[in-house]
Amino acid sequence: MALAFDEYGRPFIILREQEKKSRLQGLDAQKANIAAGKSVARILRTSLGPKGMDKMLQSPDGDVTITNDGATILELMDVDNQIAKLMVELSRSQDYDIGDGTTGVVVLAGSLLEQAEKLLERGIHPIRIAEGYEMASRIAVDHLESISTKYEFSATDIEPLVQTCMTTLSSKIVSRCKRALAEIAVKAVLAVADLERKDVNLDLIKVEGKVGGKLEDTELVQGIIVDKDMSHPQMPKRIEDAHIAILTCPFEPPKPKTKHKVDIDTVEKFQTLRGQEQKYFDDMVQKCKDVGATLVICQWGFDDEANHLLMQRELPAVRWVGGVELELIAIATGGRIVPRFQELTTEKLGKAGLVREKSFGTTKDRMLYIEKCANSKAVTIFIRGGNKMMIEETKRSIHDALCVARNLIINNSIVYGGGSAEISCSIAVDAAADRHPGVEQYAIRAFADALDAIPLALAENSGLPPIDTLTVVKSQHVKENNSRCGIDCNDVGTNDMKEQNVFETLIGKQQQILLATQVVKMILKIDDVITPSEY
Ligand code: ADP
Repeated sequence: MALAFDEYGRPFIILREQEKKSRLQGLDAQKANIAAGKSVARILRTSLGPKGMDKMLQSPDGDVTITNDGATILELMDVDNQIAKLMVELSRSQDYDIGDGTTGVVVLAGSLLEQAEKLLERGIHPIRIAEGYEMASRIAVDHLESISTKYEFSATDIEPLVQTCMTTLSSKIVSRCKRALAEIAVKAVLAVADLERKDVNLDLIKVEGKVGGKLEDTELVQGIIVDKDMSHPQMPKRIEDAHIAILTCPFEPPKPKTKHKVDIDTVEKFQTLRGQEQKYFDDMVQKCKDVGATLVICQWGFDDEANHLLMQRELPAVRWVGGVELELIAIATGGRIVPRFQELTTEKLGKAGLVREKSFGTTKDRMLYIEKCANSKAVTIFIRGGNKMMIEETKRSIHDALCVARNLIINNSIVYGGGSAEISCSIAVDAAADRHPGVEQYAIRAFADALDAIPLALAENSGLPPIDTLTVVKSQHVKENNSRCGIDCNDVGTNDMKEQNVFETLIGKQQQILLATQVVKMILKIDDVITPSEY
């Protein structure tokens, strides 16, 4: 800090850039970072597994979200710390690539950090720890491959896929109807999947929700649902073999771009103007009829006059349909979005076997179902539930189930869940540690200990004594050479996860280990944290 004077002799203080910043170096930096990472992981730990707890988060504008999906919790938590943000990013990448296992990956990373802290205290250099973790993660990933099994299914035998999706759903609020929802998810994925090319386009699955009804009323619609109704109550509610004009231009006379003024001083002038306007509408409706459209779906609105005319000319119409929906309708019905009436042709019309309006409850709520589309691949999962929060959480859970089914179609290898894969890896990594002569041996062993965090958290969340349960299961692994033993969270009576039908995809589990290791290595390598300090 230095004192200086300006040209009028007034004193002022010069602060050098450096002094405005606070700085943490060496071990202090690593410890502070580890503490930040661990605190994020601690929050998610209680959400892991079928008996995991949910979190309730309120956004600044008062919206409430209740969820146990790791990625969503972290997304909404609005963390400030940079390291905590890395953990959020970690969960997001697991969600992006795999779609499931977003809680597990953060819990694992937290546990790896915890173990690293102990090693740092013992004087082991962070780079050595990072290298040891890297070796251990490779051993674990290879071991997962060796204990994985192929899961056979076909388009006709979907039961195995349903079982796997049920594992994913069992830890969510919606577990009450996990069977029905898993079936819906699998059928939806199979509808858009190309089993030969092992390709799934999840974009073709639309997930729509409406408050009301029961979760059990959730259905799979072979087509598209739009939250809109016919523009006029007297228009038909059911159109078979519909030819749909998909328009992004409004039903109204064109407006001049520059300012204009029309003087109307006589009744005749007014009537001419009105007649002209009517002719515009009439021409537009005629144009649609000429090309053979039996339904018009319009991105814009039209006024009562146009609406009335459409009804009179028996051309049903839907207005104010959003851009995203319009695009989906175009894909599903094989139609083209038409931006100008002049461009409307018969080839650009979309085709659907059935378009119907369905009303719900006692309210005026109606939705439009577009079914039997020309491109039969697009499907919609229509979720019902008691309130908005429930619907949103169901959407997230269904997303996880869809991802799991997709992952299995892309690669049908699975490992058993309930912490069994982690225990098996932990034993394998521990055994491999002895073969490494260097200091890395400690880090490899620490990695093995860190893997235990998943079964420990599962046991703890289920109300079981964590350490006792883990030791029993671990000895079972070694004695019986059975890598399928996990934590019996639901108190079924057996801890063989094959019998409990608790699976996870191999790529999902491998990704968890790889991503968690990557982030932890990154955090360990930071030895200088420079932040602007508060004034
Ligand atoms: P994530 O967001 O990581 O998927 P979840 O809360 O869905 O977190 O929990 C998944 C964990 O719970 C996995 O390790 C999985 O193997 C385990 N799990 C799920 N269902 C069961 C069950 N019925 N018994 C034991 N473990 C289970």
